[in-house]
Amino acid sequence: MEKKDLDWGSLPFGYMPTDYSYVCNYKDGAWEEGGLTTDHSMTLSECAGIFHYCQEVFEGLKAYTTKDGSIVCFRPDMNATRMADSAKRLCMPAFPEDKFVEAVKEVVKANAAWVPPYGSGAALYIRPFMVATGIVIGVKPADEYQFRILVTPVGPYFKGGDTSIEVTIPDYDRAAPHGTGNIKAGLNYAMSLYPYEKAHEAGYSENMYLDSATRTYVEETGGANVILVDREGNLVVPRSATDSILPSITRRSLVTLASDVLGLNVIERPVKFQEIIDGNFVECGLCGTAAVISPVSRVAKEGFCDVTFEQSTDGCGPVLKKLRETLSGIQSCDIEGPEGWVVEILPAE
Ligand SMILES: *Cc1c(COP(=O)(O)O)cnc(C)c1O
Repeated sequence: MEKKDLDWGSLPFGYMPTDYSYVCNYKDGAWEEGGLTTDHSMTLSECAGIFHYCQEVFEGLKAYTTKDGSIVCFRPDMNATRMADSAKRLCMPAFPEDKFVEAVKEVVKANAAWVPPYGSGAALYIRPFMVATGIVIGVKPADEYQFRILVTPVGPYFKGGDTSIEVTIPDYDRAAPHGTGNIKAGLNYAMSLYPYEKAHEAGYSENMYLDSATRTYVEETGGANVILVDREGNLVVPRSATDSILPSITRRSLVTLASDVLGLNVIERPVKFQEIIDGNFVECGLCGTAAVISPVSRVAKEGFCDVTFEQSTDGCGPVLKKLRETLSGIQSCDIEGPEGWVVEILPAE
Protein backbone atom coordinates (compact mmCIF):
# COMPACT_ATOMS: atom_id res chain seq x y z
CA MET A 1 0.00 0.00 0.00
CA GLU A 2 1.38 3.34 -1.11
CA LYS A 3 1.00 6.20 1.41
CA LYS A 4 -0.43 9.48 0.11
CA ASP A 5 2.11 12.09 -0.89
CA LEU A 6 1.65 14.50 2.03
CA ASP A 7 4.11 16.50 4.07
CA TRP A 8 3.37 14.37 7.16
CA GLY A 9 5.72 16.25 9.45
CA SER A 10 3.95 19.58 9.07
CA LEU A 11 0.28 18.62 9.04
CA PRO A 12 -1.99 21.00 10.97
CA PHE A 13 -4.71 19.75 13.33
CA GLY A 14 -7.21 20.25 10.54
CA TYR A 15 -9.60 18.50 8.18
CA MET A 16 -8.97 17.18 4.71
CA PRO A 17 -11.34 14.79 2.96
CA THR A 18 -9.87 11.29 2.54
CA ASP A 19 -11.03 8.48 0.24
CA TYR A 20 -13.88 7.12 2.36
CA SER A 21 -16.23 7.88 5.20
CA TYR A 22 -18.47 5.35 6.91
CA VAL A 23 -22.21 5.90 7.02
CA CYS A 24 -25.12 4.05 8.60
CA ASN A 25 -28.74 5.21 8.91
CA TYR A 26 -31.32 4.50 11.57
CA LYS A 27 -34.87 4.20 10.29
CA ASP A 28 -38.08 2.47 11.35
CA GLY A 29 -36.57 1.61 14.69
CA ALA A 30 -33.47 -0.17 13.38
CA TRP A 31 -29.95 0.47 12.12
CA GLU A 32 -29.39 -0.35 8.48
CA GLU A 33 -26.42 -2.39 7.28
CA GLY A 34 -24.11 0.62 6.81
CA GLY A 35 -20.91 0.85 4.80
CA LEU A 36 -18.30 3.01 3.15
CA THR A 37 -19.06 6.07 1.06
CA THR A 38 -16.94 8.41 -1.05
CA ASP A 39 -19.48 11.20 -0.51
CA HIS A 40 -18.15 13.50 2.21
CA SER A 41 -21.21 15.71 2.39
CA MET A 42 -24.63 15.24 3.92
CA THR A 43 -27.93 16.52 2.56
CA LEU A 44 -30.64 16.94 5.16
CA SER A 45 -34.13 18.36 5.44
CA GLU A 46 -34.24 21.91 6.78
CA CYS A 47 -36.46 20.42 9.46
CA ALA A 48 -34.00 17.72 10.58
CA GLY A 49 -33.83 17.43 14.36
CA ILE A 50 -30.14 18.29 14.53
CA PHE A 51 -30.82 21.84 13.32
CA HIS A 52 -33.45 22.64 15.91
CA TYR A 53 -32.95 20.67 19.08
CA CYS A 54 -29.32 19.74 18.70
CA GLN A 55 -29.38 15.97 18.98
CA GLU A 56 -25.75 15.26 18.19
CA VAL A 57 -23.09 13.16 19.90
CA PHE A 58 -19.55 12.44 18.80
CA GLU A 59 -16.33 10.62 19.57
CA GLY A 60 -12.66 11.07 18.80
CA LEU A 61 -9.85 8.55 18.57
CA LYS A 62 -6.71 8.01 16.53
CA ALA A 63 -5.08 5.37 14.35
CA TYR A 64 -1.30 5.07 14.23
CA THR A 65 1.28 3.33 12.09
CA THR A 66 3.63 1.28 14.27
CA LYS A 67 7.35 0.78 13.73
CA ASP A 68 6.78 -2.50 11.88
CA GLY A 69 4.25 -0.83 9.58
CA SER A 70 1.01 -2.20 10.97
CA ILE A 71 -1.93 0.11 11.66
CA VAL A 72 -3.50 0.15 15.11
CA CYS A 73 -5.95 2.15 17.17
CA PHE A 74 -6.37 2.62 20.89
CA ARG A 75 -9.26 1.22 22.97
CA PRO A 76 -12.05 1.80 20.41
CA ASP A 77 -14.39 -0.24 22.62
CA MET A 78 -14.22 2.58 25.18
CA ASN A 79 -15.35 5.09 22.57
CA ALA A 80 -18.16 2.74 21.52
CA THR A 81 -19.44 2.52 25.08
CA ARG A 82 -19.12 6.22 25.75
CA MET A 83 -20.96 7.09 22.56
CA ALA A 84 -23.79 4.75 23.52
CA ASP A 85 -23.97 6.48 26.92
CA SER A 86 -23.97 9.92 25.29
CA ALA A 87 -26.70 8.89 22.85
CA LYS A 88 -28.92 7.57 25.62
CA ARG A 89 -28.79 10.91 27.45
CA LEU A 90 -29.99 12.73 24.31
CA CYS A 91 -32.73 10.17 23.53
CA MET A 92 -30.85 8.91 20.50
CA PRO A 93 -30.60 5.21 19.59
CA ALA A 94 -27.27 3.71 20.68
CA PHE A 95 -25.09 2.58 17.82
CA PRO A 96 -24.30 -1.10 18.61
CA GLU A 97 -20.89 -1.21 20.27
CA ASP A 98 -19.45 -4.14 18.31
CA LYS A 99 -20.67 -2.58 15.07
CA PHE A 100 -18.96 0.67 16.11
CA VAL A 101 -15.59 -1.07 16.48
CA GLU A 102 -16.06 -2.91 13.16
CA ALA A 103 -16.97 0.37 11.44
CA VAL A 104 -13.84 2.06 12.81
CA LYS A 105 -11.70 -0.80 11.50
CA GLU A 106 -13.43 -0.79 8.12
CA VAL A 107 -13.07 2.93 7.49
CA VAL A 108 -9.44 3.07 8.67
CA LYS A 109 -8.52 0.04 6.56
CA ALA A 110 -10.09 1.69 3.50
CA ASN A 111 -8.08 4.85 4.21
CA ALA A 112 -4.81 3.10 5.11
CA ALA A 113 -2.91 5.32 2.67
CA TRP A 114 -3.92 8.31 4.79
CA VAL A 115 -2.58 6.96 8.08
CA PRO A 116 0.59 8.98 8.76
CA PRO A 117 3.83 6.98 8.83
CA TYR A 118 5.56 5.93 12.04
CA GLY A 119 7.67 8.64 13.62
CA SER A 120 5.99 11.56 11.83
CA GLY A 121 4.26 12.81 14.99
CA ALA A 122 0.99 12.77 13.04
CA ALA A 123 -1.93 10.33 13.25
CA LEU A 124 -5.21 9.55 11.53
CA TYR A 125 -7.93 11.24 13.54
CA ILE A 126 -11.18 9.28 13.62
CA ARG A 127 -14.36 11.20 14.29
CA PRO A 128 -17.49 9.05 14.73
CA PHE A 129 -20.65 11.09 15.21
CA MET A 130 -24.38 10.77 15.10
CA VAL A 131 -27.05 13.33 14.23
CA ALA A 132 -30.84 13.48 14.17
CA THR A 133 -31.79 13.45 10.49
CA GLY A 134 -35.52 12.87 11.05
CA ILE A 135 -37.99 15.73 10.80
CA VAL A 136 -38.92 17.42 14.06
CA ILE A 137 -40.84 20.63 14.65
CA GLY A 138 -42.59 20.13 18.00
CA VAL A 139 -40.08 19.36 20.72
CA LYS A 140 -39.35 15.64 20.79
CA PRO A 141 -36.63 13.19 19.81
CA ALA A 142 -36.34 12.56 16.07
CA ASP A 143 -37.10 9.10 14.71
CA GLU A 144 -34.32 8.94 12.12
CA TYR A 145 -30.57 9.29 12.67
CA GLN A 146 -27.33 9.02 10.80
CA PHE A 147 -24.16 7.56 12.28
CA ARG A 148 -21.07 8.56 10.36
CA ILE A 149 -17.31 8.30 10.71
CA LEU A 150 -14.97 10.74 9.04
CA VAL A 151 -11.23 10.28 9.19
CA THR A 152 -8.56 12.85 8.51
CA PRO A 153 -4.78 12.92 9.00
CA VAL A 154 -3.73 15.40 11.68
CA GLY A 155 -0.56 16.81 13.16
CA PRO A 156 -0.13 17.60 16.85
CA TYR A 157 -3.01 19.51 18.50
CA PHE A 158 -0.77 22.06 20.15
CA LYS A 159 2.02 23.13 17.81
CA GLY A 160 5.44 22.77 19.38
CA GLY A 161 4.46 19.50 21.06
CA ASP A 162 5.85 19.76 24.57
CA THR A 163 5.36 23.51 24.93
CA SER A 164 3.49 24.50 28.06
CA ILE A 165 0.28 26.44 27.79
CA GLU A 166 -1.34 29.00 30.05
CA VAL A 167 -4.98 28.74 31.05
CA THR A 168 -7.50 31.01 32.72
CA ILE A 169 -10.64 30.74 34.83
CA PRO A 170 -13.67 31.82 32.80
CA ASP A 171 -16.62 33.90 34.01
CA TYR A 172 -18.85 31.26 32.43
CA ASP A 173 -19.78 27.69 33.29
CA ARG A 174 -19.34 24.55 31.22
CA ALA A 175 -21.71 22.06 32.75
CA ALA A 176 -24.63 22.23 35.16
CA PRO A 177 -24.70 19.77 38.04
CA HIS A 178 -26.31 16.58 36.73
CA GLY A 179 -26.53 18.21 33.29
CA THR A 180 -24.73 17.02 30.18
CA GLY A 181 -21.09 17.63 31.14
CA ASN A 182 -20.43 13.90 31.30
CA ILE A 183 -21.45 13.18 27.69
CA LYS A 184 -19.60 13.94 24.49
CA ALA A 185 -22.03 16.17 22.63
CA GLY A 186 -21.69 19.20 20.40
CA LEU A 187 -24.06 21.11 22.66
CA ASN A 188 -21.38 21.22 25.36
CA TYR A 189 -19.06 22.89 22.87
CA ALA A 190 -21.50 25.39 21.37
CA MET A 191 -21.73 27.35 24.57
CA SER A 192 -18.02 27.00 25.36
CA LEU A 193 -16.97 28.86 22.20
CA TYR A 194 -17.68 32.32 23.58
CA PRO A 195 -15.59 31.89 26.74
CA TYR A 196 -12.96 30.15 24.58
CA GLU A 197 -12.70 33.23 22.36
CA LYS A 198 -12.56 35.43 25.45
CA ALA A 199 -9.69 33.35 26.83
CA HIS A 200 -7.79 33.69 23.55
CA GLU A 201 -8.31 37.45 23.50
CA ALA A 202 -6.78 37.60 26.97
CA GLY A 203 -3.79 35.54 25.79
CA TYR A 204 -4.69 32.12 27.22
CA SER A 205 -4.94 28.80 25.38
CA GLU A 206 -7.83 27.32 27.33
CA ASN A 207 -10.38 27.78 30.11
CA MET A 208 -10.22 25.78 33.31
CA TYR A 209 -13.83 25.47 34.43
CA LEU A 210 -14.85 25.30 38.05
CA ASP A 211 -17.99 23.47 39.20
CA SER A 212 -20.90 25.67 38.25
CA ALA A 213 -22.89 25.22 41.48
CA THR A 214 -20.24 26.60 43.85
CA ARG A 215 -17.32 27.75 41.65
CA THR A 216 -15.09 26.06 44.17
CA TYR A 217 -13.89 22.81 42.61
CA VAL A 218 -11.79 22.18 39.53
CA GLU A 219 -13.68 20.38 36.79
CA GLU A 220 -11.96 20.38 33.39
CA THR A 221 -11.16 22.55 30.39
CA GLY A 222 -13.36 22.93 27.32
CA GLY A 223 -12.12 19.72 25.74
CA ALA A 224 -9.66 18.00 28.07
CA ASN A 225 -9.54 16.64 31.62
CA VAL A 226 -7.17 18.12 34.20
CA ILE A 227 -4.55 16.07 36.05
CA LEU A 228 -2.20 17.32 38.75
CA VAL A 229 0.90 16.23 40.62
CA ASP A 230 1.21 17.32 44.23
CA ARG A 231 4.38 18.07 46.20
CA GLU A 232 4.59 14.47 47.40
CA GLY A 233 4.57 13.17 43.83
CA ASN A 234 1.02 11.82 43.93
CA LEU A 235 -1.08 11.96 40.79
CA VAL A 236 -4.20 13.87 41.77
CA VAL A 237 -7.24 13.57 39.51
CA PRO A 238 -10.20 15.94 40.02
CA ARG A 239 -13.53 14.22 40.55
CA SER A 240 -16.92 15.87 40.27
CA ALA A 241 -19.50 15.44 42.99
CA THR A 242 -22.19 16.19 40.42
CA ASP A 243 -20.90 14.03 37.55
CA SER A 244 -20.14 16.96 35.29
CA ILE A 245 -16.70 15.89 34.03
CA LEU A 246 -16.39 14.08 30.71
CA PRO A 247 -14.98 10.57 31.27
CA SER A 248 -11.79 10.98 29.22
CA ILE A 249 -10.38 7.69 27.94
CA THR A 250 -6.89 9.19 28.02
CA ARG A 251 -7.30 10.17 31.67
CA ARG A 252 -8.66 6.76 32.67
CA SER A 253 -5.80 5.05 30.81
CA LEU A 254 -3.22 7.31 32.48
CA VAL A 255 -4.67 6.50 35.91
CA THR A 256 -4.30 2.78 35.24
CA LEU A 257 -0.73 3.20 33.98
CA ALA A 258 0.22 5.46 36.88
CA SER A 259 -0.88 3.00 39.52
CA ASP A 260 -0.32 -0.38 37.83
CA VAL A 261 2.76 0.26 35.69
CA LEU A 262 4.60 3.23 37.17
CA GLY A 263 3.75 2.49 40.78
CA LEU A 264 2.52 6.00 41.50
CA ASN A 265 0.04 6.84 44.17
CA VAL A 266 -3.16 8.00 42.45
CA ILE A 267 -5.71 10.07 44.32
CA GLU A 268 -9.06 10.69 42.65
CA ARG A 269 -11.06 13.22 44.64
CA PRO A 270 -12.77 16.58 44.39
CA VAL A 271 -10.02 19.23 44.19
CA LYS A 272 -10.70 22.72 45.49
CA PHE A 273 -9.32 25.45 43.27
CA GLN A 274 -8.01 27.04 46.47
CA GLU A 275 -5.55 24.12 46.75
CA ILE A 276 -4.07 25.20 43.42
CA ILE A 277 -3.89 28.81 44.61
CA ASP A 278 -2.16 27.56 47.76
CA GLY A 279 0.59 26.08 45.61
CA ASN A 280 -0.03 22.44 46.52
CA PHE A 281 0.63 21.22 42.98
CA VAL A 282 3.89 21.26 41.06
CA GLU A 283 2.70 19.81 37.75
CA CYS A 284 -0.50 20.29 35.81
CA GLY A 285 -1.58 18.76 32.53
CA LEU A 286 -4.59 18.60 30.22
CA CYS A 287 -5.34 15.16 28.87
CA GLY A 288 -7.27 13.98 25.87
CA THR A 289 -6.90 12.08 22.62
CA ALA A 290 -5.77 15.15 20.69
CA ALA A 291 -2.60 15.90 22.70
CA VAL A 292 -2.33 12.98 25.22
CA ILE A 293 -1.01 15.42 27.88
CA SER A 294 -0.39 19.12 27.36
CA PRO A 295 1.53 20.66 30.22
CA VAL A 296 0.03 23.74 31.87
CA SER A 297 2.59 26.19 33.20
CA ARG A 298 0.25 28.78 34.64
CA VAL A 299 -3.35 29.41 35.58
CA ALA A 300 -4.21 33.05 35.97
CA LYS A 301 -7.14 35.44 36.03
CA GLU A 302 -6.78 39.12 36.64
CA GLY A 303 -7.73 40.08 40.17
CA PHE A 304 -8.32 36.45 41.15
CA CYS A 305 -5.26 34.24 40.86
CA ASP A 306 -1.88 33.80 39.26
CA VAL A 307 -0.34 30.40 39.88
CA THR A 308 2.70 28.86 38.26
CA PHE A 309 3.25 25.10 38.23
CA GLU A 310 6.96 24.98 38.98
CA GLN A 311 7.73 21.81 37.10
CA SER A 312 5.43 22.29 34.11
CA THR A 313 7.12 25.44 32.87
CA ASP A 314 9.46 23.94 30.25
CA GLY A 315 7.08 21.32 28.94
CA CYS A 316 5.87 18.39 30.99
CA GLY A 317 7.39 17.97 34.45
CA PRO A 318 9.01 14.62 35.32
CA VAL A 319 5.89 12.74 36.42
CA LEU A 320 3.60 13.79 33.59
CA LYS A 321 6.43 13.36 31.08
CA LYS A 322 6.94 9.75 32.18
CA LEU A 323 3.19 9.18 31.97
CA ARG A 324 2.93 10.72 28.53
CA GLU A 325 5.88 8.77 27.18
CA THR A 326 4.42 5.55 28.53
CA LEU A 327 0.97 6.09 27.04
CA SER A 328 2.29 7.36 23.70
CA GLY A 329 4.68 4.41 23.59
CA ILE A 330 1.83 1.99 24.13
CA GLN A 331 -0.34 3.69 21.51
CA SER A 332 2.33 3.32 18.85
CA CYS A 333 3.28 -0.18 20.08
CA ASP A 334 6.84 0.74 21.15
CA ILE A 335 5.87 -0.37 24.64
CA GLU A 336 3.61 -3.29 25.42
CA GLY A 337 0.47 -2.11 27.18
CA PRO A 338 -2.34 -3.82 29.07
CA GLU A 339 -4.17 -6.58 27.21
CA GLY A 340 -6.68 -5.31 24.66
CA TRP A 341 -5.72 -1.64 24.69
CA VAL A 342 -4.14 -1.64 21.25
CA VAL A 343 -6.33 -3.03 18.49
CA GLU A 344 -4.76 -4.04 15.20
CA ILE A 345 -6.57 -2.78 12.13
CA LEU A 346 -4.15 -3.78 9.39
CA PRO A 347 -1.13 -6.06 9.81
CA ALA A 348 2.30 -5.06 8.51
CA GLU A 349 2.78 -5.88 4.82
C1 LIG B 1 -13.32 14.36 24.35
C2 LIG B 1 -13.21 15.15 25.60
C3 LIG B 1 -12.18 14.93 26.53
C4 LIG B 1 -11.05 13.96 26.29
O1 LIG B 1 -11.48 12.62 26.22
P1 LIG B 1 -10.54 11.52 25.54
O2 LIG B 1 -11.39 10.31 25.52
O3 LIG B 1 -9.37 11.36 26.42
O4 LIG B 1 -10.17 12.02 24.20
C5 LIG B 1 -12.19 15.68 27.70
N1 LIG B 1 -13.14 16.60 27.94
C6 LIG B 1 -14.14 16.85 27.07
C7 LIG B 1 -15.15 17.88 27.40
C8 LIG B 1 -14.21 16.13 25.87
O5 LIG B 1 -15.20 16.40 25.00
